[in-house]
Amino acid sequence: MNIDQNALRAFLTELMGESGVISETADTSRYTTDWSGERLGEPLLVARPRSTEEVAAIVSFCHRHQVPMVAQGGHTGLVGGALPDAERPELVISLERLNRIRDIDPLNFTLSVDSGCVLQTIKDAAAESDCDFPLSLGAQGSCQIGGNIATNAGGLNVLRFGMMRQLVLGLEVVLPDGRIWNGMHALHKDNRGYDLKQLFIGAEGTLGIVTGAMLKLFPKPETTRTALVAVPDVPAALALYAQARRSCCDLLSAFELIPRACLELALEAAPSLSDPLESAYPVYVLLEVAASGPVDLDAMIEHLFEHGMQDGHVLDGVLAANDTQANRLWQIREYMVEGQQHRGEHLRTDISLPISSLSEFYDEASRAMIARSPNTEIIAYGHIGDGNLHFNLLPPPDLDLAAKQALLHELEGELFAIVERYQGSISAEHGIGRVKQAPFLDGLSDLERELISGLKTLFDPDDLMAAGRILPRRA
Ligand SMILES: Cc1cc2nc3c(=O)[nH]c(=O)nc-3n(C[C@H](O)[C@H](O)[C@H](O)COP(=O)(O)OP(=O)(O)OC[C@H]3O[C@@H](n4cnc5c(N)ncnc54)[C@H](O)[C@@H]3O)c2cc1C
Repeated sequence: MNIDQNALRAFLTELMGESGVISETADTSRYTTDWSGERLGEPLLVARPRSTEEVAAIVSFCHRHQVPMVAQGGHTGLVGGALPDAERPELVISLERLNRIRDIDPLNFTLSVDSGCVLQTIKDAAAESDCDFPLSLGAQGSCQIGGNIATNAGGLNVLRFGMMRQLVLGLEVVLPDGRIWNGMHALHKDNRGYDLKQLFIGAEGTLGIVTGAMLKLFPKPETTRTALVAVPDVPAALALYAQARRSCCDLLSAFELIPRACLELALEAAPSLSDPLESAYPVYVLLEVAASGPVDLDAMIEHLFEHGMQDGHVLDGVLAANDTQANRLWQIREYMVEGQQHRGEHLRTDISLPISSLSEFYDEASRAMIARSPNTEIIAYGHIGDGNLHFNLLPPPDLDLAAKQALLHELEGELFAIVERYQGSISAEHGIGRVKQAPFLDGLSDLERELISGLKTLFDPDDLMAAGRILPRRA
């Protein structure tokens, strides 16, 4: 860095006015932490640009003066990627004021948007035009579309609509030297050579700052049916999944695994929620089917339940009669995550396996964890329609913090070794950031590491943008 903080502040203030720069520690505190409550270092300053041109001017200045920088969205990332570095102070570039819906084209089924727009705002705007933007996740009231793109977010509807990667038609990106790449195409088919936008999706802000996106829309569902189904075990849940994929005319949009321990966490976190069925069962599935045309979803679900009961895969269930009941079922899924957070120190993972290996993996991993630490509680739920499990662990409550952390570290290593044996992934959704860097690097071949490092060097030879995320920071 070849300028001091005062010169940086003066440049930013001249560019954006006083409201565009935050420098007092009391005011920067909300930019130094994220949803998990983690905190690493203090930012150099926080910049709050309102346009792509302002982002470009800031990045260009940082490039000229070798100022490290990091983009921030809605602070809901779970791998520490957006947190300012502790050792080498960074300029935080918050996209929170770059938040306009630019245009909606209901005939082309596209919506163009600034990257700082909150996901829920985009979903609402799509719905007003009788369209649907299907990305759905627990953090949708806070996360921004730029963060979703940078992390290639998944969520509840991936099995029908795909990850963020499948929902982006075009991007606008400010490169680490300040140039603007305009790839805001609205084309559903486009085979002109390399698909550059895909390089930025899931890159966690290491190759450029996303400032705009052209998103793919779908017809708004006219009818949706949500059901909570009790099943005897995980293999039965997967058998039901296989049946549902085939018998629901490809209209299945969510299929979530919720073991009893997870449902109890939700009831603990939200006393207003009640047990949805009269008896307790070992495992539940929360599923949703949705259609935009004249389709009889009730008949479809009844058929699925009847078959499931005959095969012994379904023990009991409840079909939501209206939106309020459906929301209450989805609240179980949301409050589970909160309940886990309330229990304090825990291991959070987002692994994925081939769906056909899930049962066997679940069984082997559970046995391995309990063999090593019998009083550790397994909280393993997730989007099993995508092979994605949050195989989380709550350590025995009587251990002190250091002992809990050491145990969880050891268990994580053991769990990831099993994931590797099943040819799974240690990150299905949340990305690598800082938190998953060590196991990510361990799993790379020499060739993969060479290619990934080569890409980073091509885009950001001075290692100024989001350095130390995905790859280690260059000295
Ligand atoms: C309760 C809860 C539920 C969740 N459920 C899911 C889920 O189901 N599926 C899922 O995939 N994730 C889930 N997440 C994780 C999180 O919501 C996603 O990773 C989300 O995409 C992060 O968006 P954000 O705007 O909060 O990004 P931030 O946390 O601000 O940043 C995340 C990363 O993106 C980078 N970044 C942010 N904006 C930009 C930009 N404009 N250009 C370039 N880089 C940028 C940051 O530098 C950082 O590396 C959940 C999180 C919570 C708290």
